[in-house]
Amino acid sequence: MNALNNIQLKQAQLLINGEFVESKTTHWQDIVNPATQEVLGQVPFATTAEVNAAIAAAQNAFETWRQTPIQARMRIMLKLQDLIRQNAKDIAKVLTAEQGKTLADAEGDIQRGLEVVEHACSIGSLQMGEYIEGVARGVDTYTLQQPLGVCAGITPFNFPAMIPLWMFPMAIVCGNTFVLKPSEQDPLSTMMLVELAVQAGVPAGVLNVVHGGKDVVDLLCTHQDIKAISFVGSTHVGTHVYNLAGQHGKRVQSMMGAKNHVVVMPDANKEQTLNALVGAAFGAAGQRCMALSVAVMVGEAKHWVEELAEKAKTLKVNAGHEPNTDIGPVISPRAKARVLDLINSGVEEGATLLLDGRDVKVKGYEQGNFVGQTIFTHVTTDMRIYKEEIFGPVLAIITVDSLEEAIALINANPFGNGVGLFTQSGATARTFQHQINIGQVGINIPIPVPVPFFSFTGSRGSKLGDLGPYGKQAVQFYTQTKTITSRWFEDSHQSTGVNTTINLG
Ligand code: NAD
Repeated sequence: MNALNNIQLKQAQLLINGEFVESKTTHWQDIVNPATQEVLGQVPFATTAEVNAAIAAAQNAFETWRQTPIQARMRIMLKLQDLIRQNAKDIAKVLTAEQGKTLADAEGDIQRGLEVVEHACSIGSLQMGEYIEGVARGVDTYTLQQPLGVCAGITPFNFPAMIPLWMFPMAIVCGNTFVLKPSEQDPLSTMMLVELAVQAGVPAGVLNVVHGGKDVVDLLCTHQDIKAISFVGSTHVGTHVYNLAGQHGKRVQSMMGAKNHVVVMPDANKEQTLNALVGAAFGAAGQRCMALSVAVMVGEAKHWVEELAEKAKTLKVNAGHEPNTDIGPVISPRAKARVLDLINSGVEEGATLLLDGRDVKVKGYEQGNFVGQTIFTHVTTDMRIYKEEIFGPVLAIITVDSLEEAIALINANPFGNGVGLFTQSGATARTFQHQINIGQVGINIPIPVPVPFFSFTGSRGSKLGDLGPYGKQAVQFYTQTKTITSRWFEDSHQSTGVNTTINLG
C-alpha cells in the first residue's frame, strides 16, 4: 500500500489539529522544478487566522501530550523511522523535482534526517535527569527535563527533508508540540514526511504545519504561546528571527550562513584530498551550508591546483533525475543570477578564473538554472567571492606558506560553520584542531557534519544561540531543567527548631 496516498502534489496543504486543509489565502506561490521551470504545484501563504489556529491547536494538545508516557512518544518515532525508510525513494523523486539536487543526494538528504528520527527513539535515556542523594542531612537534589510547550521550526530550501527532521522529531519526542514553517520554495517533500508522521501516530495538534514567508515567520516569532524557535537559513533572516523572537521572550537557535575552508598540507594524500575537495565544493551545486567554498593550499600543495581543475572538469551538470548527474541546477533563476553576479565580481576584482561555469549548456534542459563548476585562483580576502556566501558551485583558492598562516586566515573570517584539514601528520592535525576557531572540524573529512548522537555545532557568525539542533544539545534546547531539592521527615525525626541561616543541614 502506498503510504503517501493523501499527498496532493499540486497544492501544499496546511496541517492544523490533525487535519490536512486547504488554505483560504489569496496569496499563492508556484513551486517550480529548477531544471525545467515546470510548475509542480502551489504553496499558500497562510493567513493570520490559520497561523493562530495552528498555534492554538498545538497549545491545546500540549497538556495531554506532555503527559503521554515517554515510551508511547518513542514508539511513534520507531514507526516514523520505518515509514520514512519504506518511502524514501518516492520522497527523493519529489525532492529532486522541486529542489534540483541529484536523486542520490536527495536520498542522502532523507537519510541524514532519518538518523535523527532513529536517535529520537532513544529519548528514554536522553531525557533523563540527574540525582544526588544527601546534599545535606536527609536532603536530595534531582533534575527533571520538562518540555517547554509549543515550539516552532522555520526551515530553508536546501535540505527539505533533513532540516525539518532535525527539528520536529526531537521537539515532540521530548513532549513539546510543534508548528513547522517549511521553505516556500520546496515544501512538497517536507509535506510527505509530515504525512508519514501523522500516519505514524502523532496525535492531532502535536505537529502542525503552516506555509508562508516573512509575515508567517514574524507571527511565529511574536506569538505569546510559542516558547522556542528553531531557525535554519540565511544569516540575514536568522539574525532577524533571533532578535525578534528573543525580544518576545523565546528561546531561539539560529543556524545561518557560512564560508567553509579546507586547508591542504603538502603531506596530504593527494588523490584522496583532491577527490574530497571536488565533491565538497560542487556537490549539491554548492548549496550546502557545509559546502567547501575556500581551499587554502599550504606550501607545495599549491602545485595541485591544475590537477584539481582537471578532476572538477569531469563532473556532469544535468537535471538531478538524469543518471550520472553530479551537479544539478541551483534553486531559482534569482539564485542563478546572484551566483553569476558574484562570479563576475571575482573577475572584476582581479581573481583568475581557472574554470568558468557561467555558460554551461545542458541539452534538453535549456531553461534550467544551471551553473557549472567554477574555480578561482589568486583570490584575496578583500574580494566579494571570499567575503560573501555564494551558495553555488564556486571554489576560491588561496595559497599560503604555513599552517599558522592558514589558521590565522580562517580565524579572521567571521563565519564558523565547518572547516577541514588534509594531512598525514597527527601532530599537524592536533595543532589545527586545538587552534582553529570553528565549531565543526574535519580531519581528512571535507564536510564534517556530526551524526545525531552528537550535535550540529556551527559557531561564531554561522550561529546565534547557545544550543545546536539535534543530539544532546537539542534535548537541552527543547526542555527546561527543573531542579528539585527535597527532604522527607520521618515521624521519629526530632525537630531542630526554627533555623534562619541559609544552610540546609
Ligand atoms: P532563507 O533565510 O532565505 O529562508 C529560510 C526561511 O526563512 C524560509 O522558511 C523562508 O520562508 C524564511 N524567510 C525568508 N525571508 C524571510 C524574512 N525576510 N523574514 C522572515 N522569514 C523569512 O534561507 P534559504 O535561502 O532558504 O536557505 C539557504 C541559507 O540557509 C544559506 O545561507 C545556508 O547557509 C543556510 N543554511 C544554514 C544551515 C546551518 O545549519 N547553518 C543549514 C542549511 C542552510
